[in-house]
Amino acid sequence: MKYISTRGQTEPMAFSDVLLMGLAPDGGLMLPESYPQIDAATLEQWRHLSYPELAFAIMRLFATDIDEADLKDMINRTYTESVFGSSDITPVRKLEDNLYLLGLSNGPTLAFKDVAMQFLGNAFEYVLKKKNERLTIIGATSGDTGSAAEYALRGKDNIEVFMLSPFGKMSEFQRAQMYSLDDTNIHNIAIKGMFDDCQDIVKALQQDAEFKAKYSLGTVNSINWGRILAQIVYYFKAYFAVTDLESNTSKKVSFCVPSGNFGNICAGHIAREMGLPIHRLIVATNENDVLNDFFNQGAYHPRSADKTYVTSSPSMDISKASNFERFVYLLLDKDSNRVHELFDGVKSGTGFDLADVMEVVNSRYGFAAGKSTHADRLATIKDLYENHQDLIDPHTADGVKVARELQRDDEIIICAETALPVKFAETIVEAIGDIHIERPLHTQGIEDLAQHVTVLDNKADLVAEEIKKVIQAR
Ligand SMILES: *Cc1c(COP(=O)(O)O)cnc(C)c1O
Repeated sequence: MKYISTRGQTEPMAFSDVLLMGLAPDGGLMLPESYPQIDAATLEQWRHLSYPELAFAIMRLFATDIDEADLKDMINRTYTESVFGSSDITPVRKLEDNLYLLGLSNGPTLAFKDVAMQFLGNAFEYVLKKKNERLTIIGATSGDTGSAAEYALRGKDNIEVFMLSPFGKMSEFQRAQMYSLDDTNIHNIAIKGMFDDCQDIVKALQQDAEFKAKYSLGTVNSINWGRILAQIVYYFKAYFAVTDLESNTSKKVSFCVPSGNFGNICAGHIAREMGLPIHRLIVATNENDVLNDFFNQGAYHPRSADKTYVTSSPSMDISKASNFERFVYLLLDKDSNRVHELFDGVKSGTGFDLADVMEVVNSRYGFAAGKSTHADRLATIKDLYENHQDLIDPHTADGVKVARELQRDDEIIICAETALPVKFAETIVEAIGDIHIERPLHTQGIEDLAQHVTVLDNKADLVAEEIKKVIQAR
């Protein structure tokens, strides 16, 4: 399988080359030339596979230049009960009639990004060894990507990690999780700005061809293809699990996903394109509702960092959905010139309007969207705690709120649980009072550990200097 860019100006590449890339050289995103098609008979064969077996069945279709035995070994080392807390890896649980939660946040950092990042850490190490190369990972995080990346890459051979986070914008727990790591290949940088500023710095450094080549810059931001690929697996797994439990119903299965960069739900979209019978893909946003506007009205108008709200579901405080271009490319029948034009418009701040194809977006691709606010999160957390004895985090609450609001009679909705409540204790306390929030053993007491972080002004040059300094000292 070859990979191409959404902007059409990049030579087709193999999986192992795309794996180490951020943006394509032409500024687009890499994706497979076409999505493999899974027929109904194969789906039934996959139904009872274990998580690692299913991951292998899916990933081997995309990672065709990786030795199959090696791929299987990587997957088996990644998806273990000891790392994810259960052999299901991503267990589903029933919340109420026709509504399930998909537990994606049982990995080391208690958020869904671990599912993909833990695989990526092993895959990066493998590919770098094969190529005899080193890699400098730079990333931007609003909280979870950063810790997930650091926990996936800590101590890995031939990899140096520089993670940018918005100074003072993360929860105490998130800071402790990231800044307490003392592995010598992990470097935390707090930027005096918003998440989007951090992301812009990463993009600026990636676009500096000389710097990028000299320091072998790579990224693990949510545009990374390997992450999207690893996330496809749990849509299949959850679909099988819920249709097993609900074998007597004729209802269709939909997913609702708390979204920011459109990475998680993009994997759901690809699973659907591969033939998994997903009815609807429901995008849930918080007050940063750029995607809600698009999927309801067809207008995509990303906002600047200073118009991005700081909310109590901070990992969704994103006003430029960086994976969105992968969907738009398909939506526009792979017209890469048009994609290029539209996203140039995004860059210059005008956005674009595709109201004329909204019918296709909804009926052909199954997308719908809704929005949730701080008050909705609090009410949903409280309701589930009091009436269902289930404690969920604020991001998941955005998803549940939107799922309930948009649910139709003929569907079962699986809502992604994207973080555990203990990560966002302040909001839980605000919703239901000062209750005891359960915390996995391995995260107990991390706030008391020494923290390692460098604070810098919002300037790409300063970050470049820091990277040079660290790498030259090695
Ligand atoms: C990253 C994240 C999201 C948003 O996921 P995207 O792939 O960026 O759409 C939602 N919830 C949590 C807890 C996250 O960490």
